[in-house]
Amino acid sequence: MTPADAAAAPPATDEGTVPNLRFSFADAHNRVELGGWAREVTERELPVATALAGVNMCLEAGAVRELHWHKQAEWAFMLRGRAQITAVDAEGRRFVEEVGEEDLWYFPAGIPHSIQGLAEGCEFLLVFDDGGFSENATFLLSDWLAHTPREVVAKNFGVPPAALEELPEEERYIFPARLPGRGRGRGGEAAAPAGAGDGDPPCFSHRLGEQEPLRAPGGAVRIADSTNFPVATTIAAALVEVEPGALREMHWHPNADEWQYYVSGQGRMGVFAASERARTFDFHAGDVGYVPFAMGHYIENTGTDPLRFLEVFRADRFADVSLNRWLALTPPQLVADHLNVGAGVVDALDPEAAPVRLFGAREP
Ligand code: MN
Ligand code: MN
Repeated sequence: MTPADAAAAPPATDEGTVPNLRFSFADAHNRVELGGWAREVTERELPVATALAGVNMCLEAGAVRELHWHKQAEWAFMLRGRAQITAVDAEGRRFVEEVGEEDLWYFPAGIPHSIQGLAEGCEFLLVFDDGGFSENATFLLSDWLAHTPREVVAKNFGVPPAALEELPEEERYIFPARLPGRGRGRGGEAAAPAGAGDGDPPCFSHRLGEQEPLRAPGGAVRIADSTNFPVATTIAAALVEVEPGALREMHWHPNADEWQYYVSGQGRMGVFAASERARTFDFHAGDVGYVPFAMGHYIENTGTDPLRFLEVFRADRFADVSLNRWLALTPPQLVADHLNVGAGVVDALDPEAAPVRLFGAREP
């Protein structure tokens, strides 16, 4: 049975003033363009989210998120469909890759890139390592050229100004374009032109869905951080799956705020903010959640389908502290004297090391 809405009927243990920790992409302004759309949840929508910002974007077949760059690093998770991504690094090495469902990509700050929907189109989540980021304030190829004197652009490329008469007069951002040719893949559609940097650039993509998950009673988790996705030095993430009734255990993170995206299913998060403050939030697919640094929290699947969500951190490594493990590794008598519990509870504590643990449905 689905419990009563946590906002309307909070658990009796909620207390005090805890800032809002939820914002749905469904409540964000949708920027609709020919070929696709984009909406963002940043610290303007969710003021507590100062470390990270997110964008939900959809591109139709062939449509392009224009060649651009930005001051922030970009981490991405493909929700559905396929795209071709491109980048060129500062050594002139080029990267062209196809990405599909559950694949990630990461472009370091300042590295120019593009995203193009393939035949089936695509929808993805972008996360940036700055809550103040705006998808509407990136450095766009078309925007720069439209704001540079035509003679300068002609001189820059060594072509007559007449050859540039059709340059866009304003930014394109998202626009329909031709589907890429055959033979795509890392290294590009054809041999790199003479003059390209030697060798392959860092691999900007990662097949998260193909990664063997860490399984536990009640769920599974896949973690991608700089240990297995080396280019991702500023963003670490976990894709967590929680079975109905199961719990992503009580824990906190010793290194960063947590930015969440709920991919599917429904869940409830309780957050402990110290000083007798606690607040509970319900989440559905398409919601963004946030947990400020060090606050204790748990997430329970309150639905009948698996709950899948992303935990994203502005950090080079995923790290969490399990309440259960901490107490299991503390002298038992000390724990028992804190909690007024007997040996049955102390003996149930689990000292196992596990990056993420999920507990099965509790017995009634
Ligand atoms: Mn970008
Ligand atoms: Mn967490």
